[in-house]
Amino acid sequence: MRIVFIAVGDELLKGETIEINGNRAAQVLGEIGLTLNRTAIVSDTMDALAKEVLHSTTEPALCIISGGLGPTDDDCTRLAVAKIVGSPLVRNEDIVKHLRARAEKRGREFSEVNLRQADIPEGATTLPNEFGTAPGFLVHHGQNVLVCLPGVPFEFQGMLRAHQDTILGAAGISVNPTQEVTFRIFGITESRLQEKLSAIEGYSHVKIRSLPHFPEIRLKISPRDAFPGFEQFLQDVRAMLSWCLFSESAEVDFFEDAIERLHRAGATLALAESCTGGLIAHRITRVPDCSRVFQGGVVSYANEAKSTLLDVPAELIAKNGAVSEPVARAMALGAQERLQATHAIAVTGIAGPSGGTAEKPVGTVYLAVAHPKGVEVIRHTLAGFDRKRFQILVGYVAVSTLCRELEDDD
Ligand code: ATP
Ligand code: MG
Repeated sequence: MRIVFIAVGDELLKGETIEINGNRAAQVLGEIGLTLNRTAIVSDTMDALAKEVLHSTTEPALCIISGGLGPTDDDCTRLAVAKIVGSPLVRNEDIVKHLRARAEKRGREFSEVNLRQADIPEGATTLPNEFGTAPGFLVHHGQNVLVCLPGVPFEFQGMLRAHQDTILGAAGISVNPTQEVTFRIFGITESRLQEKLSAIEGYSHVKIRSLPHFPEIRLKISPRDAFPGFEQFLQDVRAMLSWCLFSESAEVDFFEDAIERLHRAGATLALAESCTGGLIAHRITRVPDCSRVFQGGVVSYANEAKSTLLDVPAELIAKNGAVSEPVARAMALGAQERLQATHAIAVTGIAGPSGGTAEKPVGTVYLAVAHPKGVEVIRHTLAGFDRKRFQILVGYVAVSTLCRELEDDD
């Protein structure tokens, strides 16, 4: 059975929205060892979708169609699919109930226009939508299965995951659990990684894909045919990567992992951010329950802010400059003291494009990590990144320096 993804929407063809559902479909399927055979983007007209389905089903296929299930006139997927399979649209009372209940729960008046979303081709199976309004559905079409899901990426991905067994079952696709393991890594270059991996025993018996995801690397490892030493190989990789390996799950974020490490160590965290402008605090506060660990942060951009909010002596700044070892150190100590945390991170650097000097070029950054036994300050030159990437990278480097410090303490 071929697996085809079809995105419906003029906005995708006109570049007003980037097509991301195809990517998500590939990801969800990839997690269970399946691969897409074809992807297509079509205009939201009945004809365009019908032509693509015809084209995609020259061999038996599972067509996963995203978008065009909403209540507006430009949403024509429902009607198009009914026409393709030759069944009338019928109103599904369970869906009507779901739509009314959802509107009520949100304190919204129910509009009759929404009833369109309860019309699905006769004989189709409804795929309830826990993530939004429009439900999806699945319908057989000769030897093919057509699955329609909403276009909003968050809903699309959630529903594909939630209904994957129903969908694959209907298409008669059996899943061989994949043995591919994903390691999410930060803090080592690809070339160094390659060198170290190739030195591990059993290297020739595994397939390794290295995918950069700035500023992380995702390493995908699977055994080549039956390799009894695979588990041992993975253990050796884990030991080799040590603190650079922050997750073996697509769901766990770098900052989430750091929070977890701090929590395990019984530590609390404060931040003093200059060149990252609060990015680290933002990424940390995205992690649910970060309050277990995170005390707070100060965005001290101007020199006066460093003095008034973090007690950095004005003379220290005047003497060394704001981007300097002593100032980073004083910022970390100030945050640790003021916010009553066991650990504090301070960053001060030159993001550019202007502001660099021969001695401190653009990309220079001082990172300080204060811990119960003292303060570590490191100078890095992260040159060649634009402001945005520089800030992200500094955030990662700062947090990984802290993680390394925690590890060393163990
Ligand atoms: P709704 O009920 O919200 O109208 P729908 O199923 O009709 O859902 P669309 O109208 O096609 O979905 O798309 C809704 C929004 O989701 C669009 O604004 C579009 O930006 C986004 N979207 C749709 N398809 C994709 C896609 N393939 N990739 C990324 N974004 C998409
Ligand atoms: Mg719509």
